[in-house]
Amino acid sequence: MAEKGGDASAPVLELPALPDVLPVLPLSDAVVFPFVIVPLSVDPERGVAAVEKALAGDRLVMLAARRNPQVDERSLDDLEPIGTAGSIMRLLKMPDGRMRILVQGLVRAELTSLSQVDPFARGRVRRLDPTPPDPSVSPLELEAMVRNLRDNLEAAVGLGKGISNDILGVAVAIDDPGRLADLVASNLELDLKTAQSVLELTEPVARLRRVDELLRRELDVLRTQHLISAQAQDEIDGSQREYFLRQQLRAIRRELGDEDELSEEIEGYRQTARERGMPDDAVEEMEKQIRRLERSHPESGETSILRASLDWLTDLPWGLCSEDDLDLARARRILDEEHHGLKQVKKRITEFLAVRSLKPDTRGPILCFVGPPGVGKTSLGRSIARTLGRNFVRLSLGGVRDEAEIRGHRRTYVGALPGRIVQGLQQAGTSNPVFMLDEIDKLGADHRGDPSAAMLEVLDPEQNSSFRDHYLGVAYDLSKVLFIATANLLDPIQPAFLDRMEIIGLSGYTVEEKLAIARRHLVPKQREANGLSADDLIFTDGGLRKIVTGYTREAGLRGFEREIAAVCRQRAVAVAERRDDDGSPLRPLRVDARRAARVLGPEKHALEELLATHRVGVATGLAWTAAGGDLMRIEAVLVPGRGRLRLTGRLGEVMRESAQAALSFVRGWAARQPADVLAPELRTSAEDAAQREGRVGDDDLFARHDVHIHAPAGAIPKDGPSAGITIATALVSVLCNRPVDREVAMTGEITLRGDILPIGGLKEKALAARAAGIRTMIVPKLNARDLEELPRTLRRALDIHRL
Ligand code: ADP
Repeated sequence: MAEKGGDASAPVLELPALPDVLPVLPLSDAVVFPFVIVPLSVDPERGVAAVEKALAGDRLVMLAARRNPQVDERSLDDLEPIGTAGSIMRLLKMPDGRMRILVQGLVRAELTSLSQVDPFARGRVRRLDPTPPDPSVSPLELEAMVRNLRDNLEAAVGLGKGISNDILGVAVAIDDPGRLADLVASNLELDLKTAQSVLELTEPVARLRRVDELLRRELDVLRTQHLISAQAQDEIDGSQREYFLRQQLRAIRRELGDEDELSEEIEGYRQTARERGMPDDAVEEMEKQIRRLERSHPESGETSILRASLDWLTDLPWGLCSEDDLDLARARRILDEEHHGLKQVKKRITEFLAVRSLKPDTRGPILCFVGPPGVGKTSLGRSIARTLGRNFVRLSLGGVRDEAEIRGHRRTYVGALPGRIVQGLQQAGTSNPVFMLDEIDKLGADHRGDPSAAMLEVLDPEQNSSFRDHYLGVAYDLSKVLFIATANLLDPIQPAFLDRMEIIGLSGYTVEEKLAIARRHLVPKQREANGLSADDLIFTDGGLRKIVTGYTREAGLRGFEREIAAVCRQRAVAVAERRDDDGSPLRPLRVDARRAARVLGPEKHALEELLATHRVGVATGLAWTAAGGDLMRIEAVLVPGRGRLRLTGRLGEVMRESAQAALSFVRGWAARQPADVLAPELRTSAEDAAQREGRVGDDDLFARHDVHIHAPAGAIPKDGPSAGITIATALVSVLCNRPVDREVAMTGEITLRGDILPIGGLKEKALAARAAGIRTMIVPKLNARDLEELPRTLRRALDIHRL
């Protein structure tokens, strides 16, 4: 109600005799001191009638502060008994109908009773004349106190307190300590209660002391404020300034009762933590970070680090687990529905699930699916998750070289992240997902560190209930996670992992199996993914077969599925445009072999067929790669030279040694052959001489030639011992100048004496041979057991020779 300050410079009215009864003007936010002129806005409900009444008479009113401005209670109890009698000097009506008055306080007065409350309050008042100063205070002392107060007032004005110079002038002119105190108090913008307490001090010296004390406190505030703003201008950089502004803003918000954003945010963190069943030590860590967040500068790097880490910490599933829902019959059904064939694999998965259903907390081995890409490892993992009613996540370990990728980085820099295990759990949304660790065979170590130790800890049931991620800084319980690993090859898997795993091999599919899978799974899946129905597109068996044989060369189904998707996409364009490619109205499309060739373009594997004619020095081997089995051509030539061996085609260490062994064997072999076995152009006069003398062959041949062995498709690294027999065959073919039958493919490690040692991946190799149209296959006889395990269709389709 009261506005700024007050002006005591107006001439002091001669005090008229005060009537016993006065209209009472209740004040809500300030008191009016004697001799001070103050503008007030008038409460439209409770003040207007009182003002009108006063103006109609001697203009005098009793100004009394309300005890509780929030409550609209019209009684004596609501008003402070000590107030000020004042005179209304002027009335101002505002355009919006509100009323303002200028009043001058005259004298302290006491309201003793109310004679009416409506339409305005009216009460009996008793005038309280100024009391003489406390006699125990000497005039000198009093003078000093007065001067002090004036000086402090001046200092406050100097520091920017909004008090006009006029008032300063009046203050200098007033000698009466009581009046001076009143003047200063009315300019200090005191709150209602404090101002009322000053008004009630009728003894002038006490009042002067109290006001001086209030003024000093005001000075302290002013000085601090001054310091802050001076710093803000001179030296504080933008962000700190902003910090101060924000602090002020926060204070203002709090004052206004607005929600404090930070505390809301913090409450949010706590609530999520509670909902997710965060364990005690993690809660402790969270609280520690919250305390640091509260203390730190809102725009600093530290805050964003803390926020990021609190987000991670609270966003993890902690105690959230899905309920296992395992019914073996249903599990079997799901596995059968989603996967064609794979009888053995499904059987082992069912056994695995049966054990889990009998002993849910089993610490049994971890399943590891080993096989080329696209044979269904991931999709089996998904099915396991579905049979258990658990969530599913995948993490590829291929190329992970750094421990921090598994265990996370310490949170010391912006952009640090938890390790991939913790990220996977966040993605899963529960603490017991099926967690697939892909390519565990490609987990490697280098100078950046060895991630295997961390990975072993993840997989070790003895340790993984308190897995420590560097970023989180607290232990996470991984013991409920169901880990499943996958690998393309068995050999590179580290023995420590193998110890903990149950290996389930998936080697690849025959063409017939692929066609069946395509019909039942891939085609419906891709049709749906591309928004098509069986009315829009059907594949004939011939069409699918064409795609498999002409456009893919793989053990699994990835490429096949991709090509089917390509056909579906093309069809989707036509369906969306409602007309066929040739502009004719839409009819269901039958993809037969011809149509497939038209849609997919030239066959991708035709080139190799072209290469595969009978040739001298070119033999066909069978390799076992991460992608399954594959055909591998080996070329050999002899060129004039000095007996060196050149190897090209990115051969690995093992294969180079294999080549050397093969060469040594062939040299020995050549030396034992009758000379006419060797190609005539390789024979020399020396050999002829040797022949005349009854010797055969001539090692000299190799001394005068370099041997060059090359494996085409030079961009692909190749390794492994099983090319030995193929290299030897290519060399013998050159020496004898006789071509190798292109429809024979072989595999086997060779010793210096020409023994053939067994190899791995026989089924993959047989599948690849069959897919490439090979008729005859030469395999080590020591692989007899693997041979028996080959699918019957394969054994029948290939003429297999054991060596
Ligand atoms: P991987 O994880 O071994 O590389 P995926 O699981 O990704 O292979 O399989 C590739 C595609 O082939 C997926 O669409 C998958 O559903 C399908 N697939 C693989 N094997 C089978 C199978 N036996 N029955 C049905 N679909 C299969």
